Amino acid sequence: MDVKQVMRDYFVDLGEAAKDPARKVAWCTSVGPAEILRALGFEVYFPENHGALLGATRVCGDTIPVANAQGYSPEICSYLTSDIGAALKGVTPLTKAYGLAEVPRPDVLVYCTNQCKDVMHWFAWYARRWNVPLLGIHPPNHLPDVLPEQVADVAAQYRRMIGQLETIAGRKLDPQALRSALAHSKEATDLWAQVLDSARARPAPLNFFDGAIFMGPIVVLRGTPIATDYYRSLLAELQARIAAGHAAVPRERLRIYWEGMPVWGRLRHLSDLFAKQRAAVVASTYCNSWIFSDFDPDEPLESMARAYLKIFINRDDAYKEAYIERLVREFAIDGVVFHAARTCPNNSNSSYNLPQRLAAKGIRSVVVDGDLCDLRCFSDEQSTTLIEAFLETL
Ligand code: SF4
Repeated sequence: MDVKQVMRDYFVDLGEAAKDPARKVAWCTSVGPAEILRALGFEVYFPENHGALLGATRVCGDTIPVANAQGYSPEICSYLTSDIGAALKGVTPLTKAYGLAEVPRPDVLVYCTNQCKDVMHWFAWYARRWNVPLLGIHPPNHLPDVLPEQVADVAAQYRRMIGQLETIAGRKLDPQALRSALAHSKEATDLWAQVLDSARARPAPLNFFDGAIFMGPIVVLRGTPIATDYYRSLLAELQARIAAGHAAVPRERLRIYWEGMPVWGRLRHLSDLFAKQRAAVVASTYCNSWIFSDFDPDEPLESMARAYLKIFINRDDAYKEAYIERLVREFAIDGVVFHAARTCPNNSNSSYNLPQRLAAKGIRSVVVDGDLCDLRCFSDEQSTTLIEAFLETL
C-alpha cells in the first residue's frame, strides 16, 4: 500500500463527509481521544497534520504573518499561526493535493492539553469563527509517573465529554464500537512500533525522514482498519528490505537520534545532509510519540487515559533523560541531534540541561536551532555547518 494513496483516500473522503449533512466531522488534536470520536461515527480531522502540510509545502512565510497581525504572537506554535493565517487567507494545501475547496468544517472541536496549551487557543479560534462546540480534556502535565488517580481523573473527563458528544452526534456511544476502535488503534500502534523498531537493523531500512512521511496514517487513521492494513504491508516491505540488505542510507556509517519536531519545510535538505555524511537518523522522539502500548479494548477509557497521559511530551525531565538513554542503547546510536524549535518549547528538550546530563553519561549531542514551520528560524548554512562538524566528531 502506498502512503500517498492512503492519505489521498482519507482526505477525499473527509471532503465528501464535510459536504454531506448526514455525516459529522470532528476535529481532534494529534494525541487526543480519536477513538471515542470514531466510535461515535465522526469523521476525524487533525489540524496539526494540516500544520505539517503547510510547513512541508513552505507556504508558512505567507500565512504566519496574517495570524500575527490578528494578535497571535510569532513566538507561539507555528502550526497554530500558519493554520489560522491560512484560514484567514482562504488557502489550504488540501486544494492542490486532494481537490478540497477548504479544510473540512467541523461539527465539534475536541482538544487535549496533554501536549501543550496552544491547541486549546488554536481550537478556540475556530470555535469562535464558526460557532462550533469546543470540548477539552485537561489532564495533569509533566508527570514523573502516571498514577491511578490521574488515570481515573482523565477517564472521568472522557465520560463527561462522551455525554456532550452524544448530543452532537445524535446517537449513544455503542460500547462495542469503542472496543472495536481501540482494538484497531492498538493493532495499528503495535505495528507502527515494529516499523520503527526495524531501524535497529544495521543498516537501517528506514530513517527518520521516511518515518515522518510513513507516520501519516497512525496520526489521522488510528481507530480504523485502514491504518492497520497499511502498517502491516509497510512492515512486510521493511522486513524484505532488511533481508535484502537494503539501506535507507547507503554505506551507513553513523547512527543518529533526532530529538524534537521535524523541520517540515527542510526534510529533504536535512535528509540529504545526513545521507551525504553516511549518517542514518534511525530513531526519534517524534515518530515514537504515536506508540500507545497501553491501549486495551477490554478497558477502553482507562487504557486510553493511561496511554495519552504517558506520552513523552507529557512527562518530566528525568523520564525523558532515561527514555533517550534507553533508545540510544537499543538503537546503537552514535549521537543525538536536538532540534530546538523556536515556536514549540513544549517539544524541544535542550533548554534545561538535558544535553549536558546525557554528555555526562557519554552520549554526545548537538543543538540545532530551527522550527517546525517558521523557516525564518532555521538557517541552512548554520545547521549544515553544525551538523557536519558534529558528525565529524563522532
Ligand atoms: S506540541 Fe508544539 S507543535 Fe504541537 S501543537 Fe503544541 S506547540 Fe504546536
